[in-house]
Amino acid sequence: HTDVSKSAALFERAKSILPGGCSRNTILRKPHPIYAERGQGCYVYDVEGVRRVDFANNIASLIHGHAHPAIVAAVSEQLQKGTAFTLGTEVEIDYAEYIRSRNPAFERIRFVNSGTEAVMASLKAARAFTRRPKIAKVEGAYHGLYDYAEASQTAKPDNWGQPERPSSVAVSRGTPQRLLDDVVVIPFNDVQRALEILDEHRDHLACVLVDVLPHRIGVIPAAEDFVQALRRWTEQNGALLIFDEVITFRSKFGGAQQWYDVQPDITALGKMIGGGFPVGAIAGSADVMEVLNPLNGPALFPLSGTFSANPITMIAGHTAMQLYDREAVDRLNALGDRARSSIGEAIKIADVPVCVSGRGSMFRIHLSADAPENYRQAYLSAEKAALLSAFVGYLFDGGLLMVETGTGFLSTAMSEQDIDDMTAVVLGALRKIKPYL
Ligand code: PMP
Repeated sequence: HTDVSKSAALFERAKSILPGGCSRNTILRKPHPIYAERGQGCYVYDVEGVRRVDFANNIASLIHGHAHPAIVAAVSEQLQKGTAFTLGTEVEIDYAEYIRSRNPAFERIRFVNSGTEAVMASLKAARAFTRRPKIAKVEGAYHGLYDYAEASQTAKPDNWGQPERPSSVAVSRGTPQRLLDDVVVIPFNDVQRALEILDEHRDHLACVLVDVLPHRIGVIPAAEDFVQALRRWTEQNGALLIFDEVITFRSKFGGAQQWYDVQPDITALGKMIGGGFPVGAIAGSADVMEVLNPLNGPALFPLSGTFSANPITMIAGHTAMQLYDREAVDRLNALGDRARSSIGEAIKIADVPVCVSGRGSMFRIHLSADAPENYRQAYLSAEKAALLSAFVGYLFDGGLLMVETGTGFLSTAMSEQDIDDMTAVVLGALRKIKPYL
């Protein structure tokens, strides 16, 4: 254990000005958060001077780790020229063309400032295109803060409803019931029940929103038949299929949708496509995206944002994505395979009822013999949650910064050695928690 008095003192100050001591609950850890000093490559240094290998990467948004020299250079050059204008910039057009070149489903693109905004814009575009009010989403999946996207992932099981008919439950208190009534919740990877529920709302559904590797559901992949069924159902019923690829775009050159050979009508993007800066984007077919076009009369869905497509984000994102080319994607996915299989070996050696899930460059360690199959199974009792927190704490003490859920997101700054070193720390932590499993 290291001296964390500086972080403790910072948290005391933070608590008296920021509710809960933070602007994003994500940074909290017990007994207090650790404050960052700087990052370089796959390392992050805290204010106490401790270096850790970063497997959180600002929740999957730093695909090249910290302060990649090419991104620093490109952004520094743009900084001298100004950071935001009430004018268009060429870097925006350059970057939009580049993103389009990665996936034929991305015929038109608009940039926004966060994943929340990207999902919100996707849902609003679908409603404008179909002139229908309802949206369908998978129970428990996280898609940001927009009221409609947020529903159905409360921590408490009391009001989830029947498993075959999940409730549209509010997350934030005070969310209007009439709004929740427009959210249709389907169970993950359960084709028959999902289709039954969708059928009941077929004339009112604008879209089905899905993340094919949802973090809150345990980083378990959507089944091929589930995704294909949603694609068929939406096509047959005049609704749109929306993929939330805010995290998963890293999975293939053109996004995780290419795992399934499916083209969604709209894809919400974010995180890594900002190269470390705030970003979101909505990409889709030309006819659907036409709802955003204000050139031939008022747009069906008017979309603006003061910092949308600001040149800093555009240049940083473009630089980052050019570096994350096909070869880099394949290399990072191979590193992910190595991470999952070596963690699997560590689990065997430790002889503990633990398993690892994930795909591509993401993994999740579950403190149970089997991975969950849906949101309800992913729910942790207070006791299990405390054990997971202790486990992630041991990893932290061993020099790894992991997401509190036991999830790791790789960056191209990592080597095979970093993965092997990580596994050694995981093995040590597994041995420590073994008596409690
Ligand atoms: N969708 C998914 C799948 C996400 O993981 C997140 C963020 N964790 C969001 C949307 C929201 O993105 P942001 O935090 O940039 O608003």
